[in-house]
Amino acid sequence: MEYIKTIVTNGGPSRDYLQTEYVMNIYRGCNHGCIYCYARSNYYEKTDNFDNIRAKENALQIIRDDLRRKVKPGVVLTGGVSDPYNPHEAEHKLTRNALELLNAFDFGICIITGILIDPVIPFITDTKENVQELVKKAKHHGAKYAYISTLVTLADIQRSYFYQEVDKHFPKMSEKYSKRYKNGYRCYAPHGKKLWEVFVEACEKEGLMYNMRAVNYMIRNA
Ligand code: SF4
Repeated sequence: MEYIKTIVTNGGPSRDYLQTEYVMNIYRGCNHGCIYCYARSNYYEKTDNFDNIRAKENALQIIRDDLRRKVKPGVVLTGGVSDPYNPHEAEHKLTRNALELLNAFDFGICIITGILIDPVIPFITDTKENVQELVKKAKHHGAKYAYISTLVTLADIQRSYFYQEVDKHFPKMSEKYSKRYKNGYRCYAPHGKKLWEVFVEACEKEGLMYNMRAVNYMIRNA
C-alpha cells in the first residue's frame, strides 16, 4: 500500500485526445510491462518498482472525500498510467467500488481499455501494414472508435529503461534513437503524416470513428 492525499485530480488531457474534467488512478505500477510506458518516468513513478502493482492506501475513502470536494460533477478518466483491471482488482475490487462511488456522486467515467494506437514506436511499429491491421482488428472486435499518436515520448529513467530493453530485441536501436532524437521528449515517427493518412483511410474503410471531437461527444452522450 502507498500513502497519498488525493486520487481524483482536476483536468483531463487535451482536445485532441479523450477530454474529461477529472483523472483518477487508483493503482500505481502496471503488470503489463510495456517497455515504452511513460508512467515509468520520474513524473509518475518515484521508485524503480513500476512492474509491481501497488494499491493506494485508503483509496476509496480518499476518492469519496475528493468527490465531495468537487464543485461540480464531470467525467473521470482512468487507465492512463496503470491498468485499473489488474490481477489485484479481483481481490481488492477498488476500481469496482470506485465506479459505484462515482455513480452515487453523479460523475461519469471513461476507462482507457478500447483501441488507442498510442504510442507508435518509431522504426518498430510505424508501418502502414501495422496501422491497417490494428484498425481492421479493432473493428472486428467491436471498437467504435480508434485514436493514433504517431510518436513515443521518452524521459529520464523511462528513456534509459526503454533503451536497455529495446536493444535486447532490436540490437543497436538505442543508438538510432540517440542519433535522431537526442534527449528530446517527443520522438515522432519519421513518416508520421503518411501514417496518419493511412490511419484515416483505414478507419473510413472500416467505419470507425477517429475524429476526437466526435468521439468525446459520443462518450458524454452514450
Ligand atoms: S499503463 Fe498502459 S502502457 Fe503502461 S505498462 Fe500498463 S498497459 Fe502498458
